[in-house]
Amino acid sequence: MKCEICKNKIHETFLNKLVGTYVKDAKGKKRAVCFECQKKFRNKEEMIKSL
Ligand SMILES: [Zn+2]
Repeated sequence: MKCEICKNKIHETFLNKLVGTYVKDAKGKKRAVCFECQKKFRNKEEMIKSL
């Protein structure tokens, strides 16, 4: 799984959970975002704008 903002690989925990989050774009599509990018943006709206 790659981050859709910075294109880096997103690590997974031993439970196969992403170290990051998912945001839904304007079309309702799930996009993966890494933890580093998650920290850079204050909210999901800002993340979606950067996709
Ligand atoms: Zn990222």
